[in-house]
Amino acid sequence: MKKLKERILKDGKSFDGGILKVDSFINHQMDPILMKSIGVEFVRRFGNLPINKIITIEASGIAPAIMMGYLLELPVVFVKKAEPSTMRNVVSTTAHSFTKGRDYTICISRDFLNENDKVVFIDDFLANGNAAIAVNNLVKEAGAELFGMGFIIEKSFQEGGSRLREMGIRVESLARIKELGEDKIIFED
Ligand code: 5GP
Repeated sequence: MKKLKERILKDGKSFDGGILKVDSFINHQMDPILMKSIGVEFVRRFGNLPINKIITIEASGIAPAIMMGYLLELPVVFVKKAEPSTMRNVVSTTAHSFTKGRDYTICISRDFLNENDKVVFIDDFLANGNAAIAVNNLVKEAGAELFGMGFIIEKSFQEGGSRLREMGIRVESLARIKELGEDKIIFED
């Protein structure tokens, strides 16, 4: 997605160690105009699938997911990273955070994800794929059907993309980055 790649080059900050900071338009401050274009692009890629719901994970996946849900007029449900004491019919699983170096529990209520649901998962970043794989486990556990996963940015020098594709999951990434270094951002195509 040209507009997204241009914005990443203009406002993204890259660091040694393969970390990209996009907190002026995605991860902290958000640009709703760009976010709408991201939603349109996800609709272009997934809009013909027989899905009835979009799922994402808090916090940064919510903005692109809600834009897509708005355009398709479908509900959006976000996976939580902590279990609220009031949550009923909980389905949970463990995810590993590479950035935080620890395991954490993710959960969702069966009231909003169950065997009646056909979903696409949307998130901001795909890196090692641990978050996405945990969500895939959660979807299975809930008895729902996953039709694909969409990411705003895929860091293709990390293994997430190949792990998911090897599992037979359809992965759509709007910007694929093959190299990140100090002030160096190189896209796949
Ligand atoms: P994964 O589980 O695929 O390794 O990483 C998923 C999560 O880690 C993303 O949803 C994102 O929150 C965070 N993450 C991974 N790499 C980066 C990065 O380079 N920049 C930012 N801002 N977040 C990242």
